[in-house]
Amino acid sequence: MTSLHSPVNYIAGVGPSKEKDLARLGIYTVEDLLYYFPFRYDDRTVQSGRQLQHLSRVTVRAVVQAPPAVRYKGRRAIMTAQVKTTDGLPMAAVWFNQLFLRDKLRPGTEITLTGKYDARRRSMVVEHYEFAHDAQSVHSHRLVPIYEVRGQLTPKVLRSILSKALKQYEREIPEILPVSLRNQYKLLSKVDSLLQIHLPNDRESLRQARRRLVFEEFFLFQLKLQAFRFMHKHDQPGIAHSFTKEQWTEFLQVLPFVLTDGQKQVIREILLEMRSPQPMNRLLQGDVGSGKTIVAFCAMYAAYLSGYQSAMLVPTEILAEQHYESSNRLLGRLGLRIGLLTGSLKEKARKETLDQLANGQLDMVIGTHALLEEGVEFANLSLVVTDEQHRFGVEQRSIFRQKGHHPDVLFMSATPIPRTLAMSLFGDLDVSVLDQMPEGRKPIQTHWVRASEEDKVLKFVRRELAKGRQAYVVAPLIEESEKIEGVENAVDLYKRLLEPMAGFKTGLMHGRLTAREKEEVMRQFKANEMQLLISTTVIEVGVNVPNATVMVIYNADRFGLAQLHQLRGRVGRGEYASTCILIADPLTDAGVERMQAMTSTQNGFVLAEKDLELRGPGEFFGIRQSGMPEFRLGDLVADAHIMKVAREEAQALLESKEFWIMPDCRPLVQYLKDQKVLQSPLQD
Ligand code: ADP
Ligand code: MG
Repeated sequence: MTSLHSPVNYIAGVGPSKEKDLARLGIYTVEDLLYYFPFRYDDRTVQSGRQLQHLSRVTVRAVVQAPPAVRYKGRRAIMTAQVKTTDGLPMAAVWFNQLFLRDKLRPGTEITLTGKYDARRRSMVVEHYEFAHDAQSVHSHRLVPIYEVRGQLTPKVLRSILSKALKQYEREIPEILPVSLRNQYKLLSKVDSLLQIHLPNDRESLRQARRRLVFEEFFLFQLKLQAFRFMHKHDQPGIAHSFTKEQWTEFLQVLPFVLTDGQKQVIREILLEMRSPQPMNRLLQGDVGSGKTIVAFCAMYAAYLSGYQSAMLVPTEILAEQHYESSNRLLGRLGLRIGLLTGSLKEKARKETLDQLANGQLDMVIGTHALLEEGVEFANLSLVVTDEQHRFGVEQRSIFRQKGHHPDVLFMSATPIPRTLAMSLFGDLDVSVLDQMPEGRKPIQTHWVRASEEDKVLKFVRRELAKGRQAYVVAPLIEESEKIEGVENAVDLYKRLLEPMAGFKTGLMHGRLTAREKEEVMRQFKANEMQLLISTTVIEVGVNVPNATVMVIYNADRFGLAQLHQLRGRVGRGEYASTCILIADPLTDAGVERMQAMTSTQNGFVLAEKDLELRGPGEFFGIRQSGMPEFRLGDLVADAHIMKVAREEAQALLESKEFWIMPDCRPLVQYLKDQKVLQSPLQD
């Protein structure tokens, strides 16, 4: 433990009140503080009088020439002081409502001024000033870092705290990148990069500081990502599943439909790897509705035939229930004993399920995050499937192995990852792609309408319901309390639609219902006891009701393309023609483009690329899809070239056995051990 782990009140000048404000920013230790980066920089480097551009923001050093004059405009005091820059350019410096400065602006006083310069009037409206006699170099005459702040903190106060912390702890900042790497890529040292990211000498130093820190961030991410697979492939034998061809053919015959060629192909890939002693680490990417669930069930059945248990991890209880039911319908008939494990299970039922998993009475379990908790033990787990993989974090990928098992792992994702990102994010996985839809699917007609056309939309929905179909209506918010001007909420929408939809049963679904309530609503909708479901995006993931043919999305411009595509994927799952109606009055060009993209293609991969282009990766993956790694500094798109190098170097490092004993790498090895990323093969 270095002293960087000291609490922030160890820094000179940080008392209880600042400590509290820092805590609100998530800053508890010195290290947290050093890693709290500016979100932009103000250029307050001093310019000469000749350089000043009309109407641009400039910084000059000047001397006050005469006492300031004050006049009033309404209640506003306008104070003007005649000044002359130190290189001789006269101008008027203007302040609003800052009369307390009046006495300080005595003739002869030297002051640094930042503000917008008007060359015609020879004047500047002052945004920031600093008197020469109390000038602190961290606030002026340079690129000045601007931080996000809360409470009593101002960017200026935070700047002071940071510059003190940097001075006080400079010698404690450990270097973890090996010298060889730093030399090869001409990377700044850790200390210099932290100093320069907060208080850059100039733009180039800032660029270099950022480059070093992004590299480190990506490099450590890649090491974590690849370490498990690397250790695993090299040191840990996996399970070689085995079963006969007859058993398998028999199984195929009880499937409710003929598998598509695409499904057959990916099942072949999966089984091949399951049979080999090499552990499987595979990502199955398939667009919404391409039929991934059955692929998972096939793999789970193969585990069963081989005499092992399997588990399926899903992000929501609704989805867990749904998979539990359909697996029971299909595999239950073949004699598999299947369990369900969710957070809302009663203690007694939970305990029973846990016992049965531990003593092997269950062949298979489907569950939510509850599966990841302590106390979940298996008799002989050989396969883990993660549905809607993007909802889970990188760390969760290896959780079962940390529980001491070495199962084959299959990740399934319907969020098409643009190719540019796939490599960097899933570089540790082999990929199977399901690029074909089951036959007989009718394309989903997608329409974009304005809010003023709601009547027409509702009429259309009524017609479909009258034909015996069902429909979803999605709103961005749950209820009015979180009201944002002009944005629909599910609760009010439900009340409002009851009348126009009279004669049909309408239900309401959102994240604040209890698990039991959600389950009951879903049950009714599935059983077609309910025809119209008003919902928030809780139904976005995985829900499968083939008789539902209409998806209406209010304020559609508030959703990302990936999310809209997921929502649209709730319909078009059966034999009937389906329709998706986007209601939106987008305010931006990007909003218009998103609506147009949705109506012009149904291909998730095309949409993903488009979304990335329109919004950048942070937004593309959205807040809810928090499984995507978030980087403090690195930008997955803009810094893609750095990620590529970081990936290659991480791989090279893991492959070289000397790495463990090279003195140069010691701090890094220690770091990885501290993070429990790996153990040294030489040691253990
Ligand atoms: P997703 O890939 O989005 O998870 P699902 O696995 O939920 O898709 O499948 C969508 C629908 O397609 C389900 O109703 C499923 O029963 C059906 N389905 C899957 N495979 C086939 C197939 N080969 N032929 C016909 N229908 C299929
Ligand atoms: Mg699915």
